[in-house]
Parts: sequence; C-alpha cells; structure tokens
Amino acid sequence: MLVTFFSSPPSPLLRGHGGLDGLRVGIVAVLAVFALTMSVASRAAQTVRIGVVVPLAEPQAAERWRLTADYLTGVLPGYSFELTVLASRWPPNGSLENIDFLLAAPADYAALESARLATRLLTLRALEHGIASSETAAVVLVRADRGDLRTLADLKGKSLLASNRESFDGFWVAWYELQRAGVDPFRQETRIEFVGADARMMVGALMEGAADAAILRASALGDYTLSSLVDSGALRVLNRQLHEGYPFEVSTRLYPEWVLARTPRTPDNLSRKVTLALLQMPADGLAARASRSAGWTRPLDYSPVHELLRALRLPPYADGSASPLPQFVRQHWVASVSVVVLMLVLMVLVVHYRRLTRRLRASEQHLLEVREQLENSNAVLHQRSSVDGLTGVANRRVFDETLASEWTRALRNGGPLSVILVDIDHFKRHNDQYGHQAGDECLRAVAQTLAGTVKRSGDVVARYGGEEFAVILPGVEVKGAVAVAERIRQLVEQIRLAHVGSMTGRDVTVSLGVAATVPTRGASPHSLLEAADQALYQAKAVGRNQVIVAESDAATSDRLVASG
Ligand code: GH3
Ligand code: MG
Ligand code: MG
Repeated sequence: MLVTFFSSPPSPLLRGHGGLDGLRVGIVAVLAVFALTMSVASRAAQTVRIGVVVPLAEPQAAERWRLTADYLTGVLPGYSFELTVLASRWPPNGSLENIDFLLAAPADYAALESARLATRLLTLRALEHGIASSETAAVVLVRADRGDLRTLADLKGKSLLASNRESFDGFWVAWYELQRAGVDPFRQETRIEFVGADARMMVGALMEGAADAAILRASALGDYTLSSLVDSGALRVLNRQLHEGYPFEVSTRLYPEWVLARTPRTPDNLSRKVTLALLQMPADGLAARASRSAGWTRPLDYSPVHELLRALRLPPYADGSASPLPQFVRQHWVASVSVVVLMLVLMVLVVHYRRLTRRLRASEQHLLEVREQLENSNAVLHQRSSVDGLTGVANRRVFDETLASEWTRALRNGGPLSVILVDIDHFKRHNDQYGHQAGDECLRAVAQTLAGTVKRSGDVVARYGGEEFAVILPGVEVKGAVAVAERIRQLVEQIRLAHVGSMTGRDVTVSLGVAATVPTRGASPHSLLEAADQALYQAKAVGRNQVIVAESDAATSDRLVASG
C-alpha cells in the first residue's frame, strides 16, 4: 500500500506549484497521506486468534503453526493472525473466549466438539518421511520368528513397548484394538513400557528380544530402515490390514489427522476466507513444511475418535460413562452438590424420624403396660383397703362410708334403712377354750354365714370390730330387718361350732340388735347405730342368742322391743 503510494505519479496539485515550495507542500502532503493511511490500516487490521491445543508438557509445540498464522496474515489483508497456546486438558478452561480458530489433534478436537466449542473446517494432510496423509493409525510389530504371536489376542500376558501413554496414534488407537481383542495392556500380567518417540530404538529393543511387541505410529514405517525390516521378513505386522489409499501397513482402523476448527464466535465470512486460504496454501510452501504437513483438505469424520474415547473411557467420556450426566454435573456442580446434600439431609431426617417414631411407639407401649400395672395395683389396694383381711367381708371403713351414703340416699328417697349388729356370745371363753387360731376359724365361719344370708345388691356385711359384725339393709323396714336377723341367728346356731365353755349352750351362738328408721333431717346415722347397739346390749342382757329390735323409730327412740 505504501509502496504503491510512493511510486504513483505526483498529483496535479503538486505539479502546479513547482520549486522549493512545491517540494515542501509535496512532503507535507505525503506525510499527511502517510499518517492517514497508517491510521486506516491500523484500524482495519483485526486480530484473529488461533488457539493451538498442545500437550501440557510441550508448550513449544505451538511453534509448528507460527508460519501458518503468518501465511494467513499475509494472504488475508485487514487481519492479523496470532497464535495462542492452549493446554490440552479436559474440561477446556475459559481461555477459549477470545479464540476464533482452533488447531487440535484428533482427541482434543473430539473433546471440544462434544462440548460444542468447536466445529471442524479442515483436516491436515500430515507429512512424514515425505508421505502425506489426512489419516493416521498405529502398527503393532513383532519379530517374524515369533510363531506364538499371530493375533492381537496372543499379546495377553506379554511385554509391550509404546512411545507415550498420552499419544493418540502412538498408543490409544492400538490400545482400542487390543481391548477389542480382549487384551488389557495394564492387566492380565501384560506389561507395557513407554519408552519415548524414538521408533528405531523401539524396534532395536524388539529385535533384541527385550519385548514381545512394539506399538508405533503407522507413519513410522515411512522410515526406510524400519519398513525394510518388515519387507525383509525380520518383523511382522500383527493384525495386519491394508486400507485403500493409505500408504502404510497398519494394525488398526484409520482416524482423521489434526483439525482446523472454528469456535462459536467465529464470523461466517471469516471462516470462509480462512478455509479457502488454507485450502489454497501451497503444499510444499514454508508454512506447510513448518507444520510438517502438505497443507489442508476437506474435514473428515471424527466419529471414530469419539467411539475410541468412549470405549477407552477417556475424556470427555471419562467417569466410566458415556452418558451426558457427568458433563451436566460438571457444568452445574453447585446445583448438583446442593441436590446431593439435600438428599443426604432428607435421608438423615427420614432415618431420624423413623427412629423417633419407633421410640415413641415403644414409650407408648411401656406407658400402657405401666398404666395396666397401676390399675391392677389400684384394684389390689382398693380391695385391701376395703376388705377385712381375716374374714373376707367388708371392713369398718366401708361400713362407715356405706352407712353415710345410704343414709343420704334414703333421706332423698324418703325410704327406710335398717342396721343389724351381730356379736358372738362368750367369745372370750371360746378363745380361752380352743385357742386364738380356732377363734379366727370361728370368726370366718360366722362371717361366711352372714355373707351367705345377706345377698341382695346394696346390702353390706362388714366386720365391725373384734367378734362383732354389722349389716346394712337399705330400703328395708324393721319387719324385714328382724326377719333377716332371726335367720342369721338360726343359721349360726345350725353350724354347730362346738363351744363347751359357753354359758348359753354347747355351740357357738350370736346375739343381734336391730334398728330401722326412715331418715329425717334432724337425725343421724350415728343415732341409728346407737339404737342397734342398745338393742344388742339388751339381747346380751336378757340371755343372749336372740334378736332384740329397737322399738318403733329406732333413730329417735330409746324404747326397745324384744323379739327372740
Ligand atoms: P359376750 O357374750 O358378752 O359378748 O362375751 P364375750 O366374751 O364375747 O365378749 P368380750 O367383749 O368380753 O370378749 C370378746 C373377745 O373376742 C375378746 C377377744 O379375745 C376376742 N377377739 C376379738 N377379736 C378377735 C379376733 O380377731 N380373733 C380371735 N380369735 N378373737 C378375737
Ligand atoms: Mg363383743
Ligand atoms: Mg361377744
């Protein structure tokens, strides 16, 4: 551009002045136009960044592409192409943001493609030992005299050599075929040693018998020394196959070579220009030679690379799965971690809740049992507190309470209420004669007779104290009460419990005092009891073994009537 300007004829303006002035004006004008051109040129020179994906350990590997960038700057005016080194790693980091084009080896490209970060434009025609190919493969060599090694499967348990564990066509493509043949180079006693990229050294070791097989990039057979060892029959290619149009014998399928790709931000017209420019790049030019290629060709299919990475579980298909889940987790790790944490918390809560529920049920069951025990104890206590221990009839407490409540009820109803007091005759003498234990037996027998005679519900037989019993007959008038008392007297007599010391007869007898009343507000249960006691006293006084009833309204009167 500048050269053109200086060599163009002077403008009419300059010609018109001439001489020193003209020269000065001319220089000023030239400078002005120069400055203008420079500013326009610098404004138009748009920087285009080419990211070169190289192994982490080899940042200098990007230099291979320096002249390609310069070539593009040269042939595409207005653009300045620059190289940016991108370390080969998965997942790709954020440095891809300013990148317009990518240069990457097949496996790196496949990873970027799967993440939708790159779209292929061209495939490289790699050049090695003067032979160009846009495809690559590996070859597995064994010594020809090893009759035991006929197929890849025969390498199980053998020792292998390869250049580099990270090499795509120097190892991975062969690893895939070995895997398909059932050989895991890292297991089943198989040993693999990575010895660097020197193919001749590797073949030398193989020939000396230091290893059973060597894995090489197929293009290594472009080396005459090596290919002649195969041709002469000293070395043999395992799993040998010929691919049409591919110049070497190989042991694996073919895979596409390095790729030039665009990124999501690359403008279409720039893509087109770069693609065209690289297709037209001279195959034997400086740029091609520096990149060890014969230029570029149409983009090949990279799905075989994906298939291999998936089978070997290599990035981006690592994590043991080809499903999109691991990638999703990587991209949304905060959400994923939160979900996992939430689920864990939920599980802990559920377990805790279940444990609590179980404990609650156990406590509930325990409480029920305790309540049952308490109720039983209460029943026993109630029984003990209301029953006389010796005779089994109600005790004095129950008698007092019943008399009070029946008194109140009769007062309300306006009905009658009767009481009988029963006392064993000459019981002291019975004890003296037969002993205290026989006395107890006697008390029990009299109590049973009483209980067997007075059976209507509401009636109460109680031990009043010592050898005295008391009977409450609610709703019973004096006549009925006297009849009950008389029956008791007769039944006790009929038991015929011997009582030789008695002054009344030869058997145990009882005296009974009966009192009956219709309760009124002015009277009290105490007066009824008092009347019955008076009657009993009378019965004793007039000869025992008889019933005496307190005369008429016993609760208010002192007059008594004998009836026995
Ligand atoms: P009475 O005919 O006048 O009633 O003469 P009694 O001997 O029955 O009357 P007293 O009140 O003088 O004697 C009552 C006796 O009853 C005195 C006591 O030894 C005896 N006694 C009181 N409670 C018990 C008891 O639980 N078991 C025995 N074996 N005897 C008892
Ligand atoms: Mg007595
Ligand atoms: Mg007595």
